[in-house]
Amino acid sequence: MPTTHAYAAMNAKDPLKPFQIERREPGVHDVEIDIHFCGVCHSDIHQARNEWGQSTFPLVPGHEIAGKVSRVGSGVTKFKVGDSVGVGCFVDSCRHCDMCQENLQQYCSNQISFTYNSTEKDGKTPTFGGYSTKIVVDENYVLHIPASLPLDKAAPLLCAGITTYSPLRHWKIKKGDKVAVVGLGGLGHMAVKLAAAMGAEVSVLSTSENKKADALRLGASHFINTKDPKVFKQYANHFDFMINTASGNIQIDHYLNLLKYDSTMVVLGVPEEPYQLGAFPLIGNRRHIAGSHIGGIKETQEMLDFCATHNIACDIELIPINKINEAYERTIKGDVRYRFVIDMSSLKNS
Ligand code: NAP
Ligand code: ZN
Ligand code: ZN
Repeated sequence: MPTTHAYAAMNAKDPLKPFQIERREPGVHDVEIDIHFCGVCHSDIHQARNEWGQSTFPLVPGHEIAGKVSRVGSGVTKFKVGDSVGVGCFVDSCRHCDMCQENLQQYCSNQISFTYNSTEKDGKTPTFGGYSTKIVVDENYVLHIPASLPLDKAAPLLCAGITTYSPLRHWKIKKGDKVAVVGLGGLGHMAVKLAAAMGAEVSVLSTSENKKADALRLGASHFINTKDPKVFKQYANHFDFMINTASGNIQIDHYLNLLKYDSTMVVLGVPEEPYQLGAFPLIGNRRHIAGSHIGGIKETQEMLDFCATHNIACDIELIPINKINEAYERTIKGDVRYRFVIDMSSLKNS
């Protein structure tokens, strides 16, 4: 198979640069995808810079992949050439553990193959992500992108969309629930749109006052600037549920105090440093703190269909691949409205 153009981090310090990778010839159950767009998740940055201490280099990031099927293996039944498809954060899993059987592949208790910075099912071939022109994936780990969703604005649904949809469903968010979203970035803006579509009364808790108008436009009813310490008194015991998407460290005790009795904060953000958590905010009001990791294949398809039904897609800034390092710097500063998406035709032509 022809060599595939990509962009890679060669180590944790230097900017990403052009790189070439080999993709496998599509096997019997494989789908080959011509990647049109790939979202830029903050997890790409954490891993390209080895902030979680688990990166192997060269590392080709990207797990918000949208494109068109270019070839299918002889045994493929779910896709045909030309279909609009997506690939999210993982490209395989063991398929037989309890978690895989329950369509919760993201919690596979044996071996999950993440889309990048991981290995294929053989446990040794490195996986390379979506900052590339083509990818080959088993059809069971590929999603249908509904025709009404534009591919560029749909790409970030494959991570930011499912990561926020899954906890909203798991904790059964319903009409009238007071939901707080901490951090208005890629995940946060999807949490606002999805929770609002489920009928929740959404508040954005942000450190960026200049995102207020956007928060309200995206579907929030309230905007709370967390740089003002008074808000932590004003909104104490106020929320039924909180989605914490902050990519940096927050004083988590202060935020927990904003939850009502018996309510939950779900942690989605993965800051480099661990949280400092005191016991009082938890025991005082029988509050819960939980985590959630992306979503399974079945739920990801359900989320894409939900987005199509509710006319929801991501707010994006489309960039050519050579702007990727600048996009990383802007994302780190919280200066993203609200997801950078790479136009992969810029890589084909580079
Ligand atoms: P993003 O677009 O950079 O958004 C993060 C937002 O968090 C920022 O825009 C900022 O919003 C807020 N923030 C950043 N540092 C903060 C700090 N020190 N204190 C308070 N707020 C802060 O990032 P993303 O792509 O949405 O990802 C968010 C986090 O989720 C990352 O850590 C990522 O690795 C993680 N993640 C987890 C999963 C999962 O499965 N659990 C999946 C994907 C991503 P304001 O300007 O509004 O304050
Ligand atoms: Zn992600
Ligand atoms: Zn499994």
